[in-house]
Amino acid sequence: MNIEQFRKAGYQAIDRICDYYYALQESKFPVLPDVEPGYLRPLLPSSAPESGEDFSQIAEDYQKLIVKGYTHWQHPSFLAYFPAGFSFEGILGDLYASSVSNPGFNWLSSPSCTELESIVLDWASKMLGLSSSFLNASGVGGGCFQNTASEAALVAIIAARTAYKAAHPDTKLEDMRIYTSTQTHSLGLKAGVILGLTVRALEVTKEDNFSLRGHTLRSALEEDKKKGLHPFILIATIGTTSSGAVDNIAEIRTVVTDFPDIKIHVDAAWAGMALVCPEFREMCYLKDINAIADSFSTNFHKWGLTNFDACPLWVRDRKYLIDALDITPPFLRTAQGDAGTVIDYRNWHLGLGRRYRSLKLWFVLRGYGVEGFQKHIRKAVDLNKVFVELVSSSDMLSLCAPPSLALSVFRVNPKPSTLNQATLPEDALNDLNKLFYGRISVRKDIFLTQTVLNGQFCIRLAIGSALTQDVHIREAFEVITHEGKLTLEAWDR
Ligand code: PLP
Repeated sequence: MNIEQFRKAGYQAIDRICDYYYALQESKFPVLPDVEPGYLRPLLPSSAPESGEDFSQIAEDYQKLIVKGYTHWQHPSFLAYFPAGFSFEGILGDLYASSVSNPGFNWLSSPSCTELESIVLDWASKMLGLSSSFLNASGVGGGCFQNTASEAALVAIIAARTAYKAAHPDTKLEDMRIYTSTQTHSLGLKAGVILGLTVRALEVTKEDNFSLRGHTLRSALEEDKKKGLHPFILIATIGTTSSGAVDNIAEIRTVVTDFPDIKIHVDAAWAGMALVCPEFREMCYLKDINAIADSFSTNFHKWGLTNFDACPLWVRDRKYLIDALDITPPFLRTAQGDAGTVIDYRNWHLGLGRRYRSLKLWFVLRGYGVEGFQKHIRKAVDLNKVFVELVSSSDMLSLCAPPSLALSVFRVNPKPSTLNQATLPEDALNDLNKLFYGRISVRKDIFLTQTVLNGQFCIRLAIGSALTQDVHIREAFEVITHEGKLTLEAWDR
């Protein structure tokens, strides 16, 4: 393809993307695709073509074969997992970033990539209300994009391990302990598997709304210390995946003053974005995060209007990362790096080459401003209130945990008066809800995901797509109620 052919194909691509968004906005197609596993292989040749093909044919095949296999994460009725962020500014940022195909691993490999990242992540950090210690401009702390929240946690654990080993060189790796709660995302266990380190998942209770409490952490740390083990990092969560629970960082703060060697990584992959609104900062323990977190990460690509991927990790002390990750062979040395006058982000993450993500976040932050972000977050929280009210008025549904920001977890739990029998026992309720979710999950017009909380099988409804409006929440509730009724009818028979 030459430059003029690119120009033509590029205009067509933008036109098609616009048509796609008009259709999404009007829900002209369902959120889930109508394809079966393995649908694509028979439709494509078994090897790459010998000679290059005309792009118009490639573009047609994309429309015909690939688009039909998408789950539409930007669909207004996408209420599963945590919805993925998007904005047109973000698309354009990715397009321009892709146009220079720049691996920007150190300052010299593209000064603007490094400098923009360090400035834009300072903007983002300020927008979230993080302490000035986390600013790149501080020269001590700073922020850097990682691939995902899972990788951010992995990097934080590697850094904490190095810091602990430096302070206690005789510690055996098998005696070192990572702490999480039972509600922590699988990233905690995965990091343990990757690093060959043991993870202790601390129990949380329904009474505490699945939040990790200080006394639980204290007794685990005391018990493990008595056994001669070495606690070295806690992964605390602001907004757990299952129910949006927020670990009690205020209590954790009190505990860790007695355990100064333990580092704190805060995983706020989803709910971190709520910090843009002052009214949510207290419930997210921002003050305590600012006081004790050694590292903090959140995904702009979840609730933050930014196209996948955009996950910054901020650290209070950049040396923490660099001590663990700086390996500089001769071919990577530069005059500026040697002089220590620049950031070389290759020493802040796992890879060498890195995607140029700061451009899209710069576009998005400028396009929306802090007010635009606040509006987006508040809208989703308000829509969740609508859903919660509908559930509360239903005699068939009940919440399984208090609603958290834009996430509700619920199940069918019929009032005895609506059943031909007394209240159902827990195991029967679980079976009933599995049937109920089975019905919901074969539908293509809404997309919800399941979880298990305290042994209870429940369904999550997560709001976050910029296209979701009041009408979509009410439609989702109607679908849920309809399927709930059919499940109960079948159950009663
Ligand atoms: N942490 C929490 C609380 C999450 O909910 C998720 C994903 O939903 C993750 C981490 C994983 O995010 P990533 O895909 O960026 O690793």
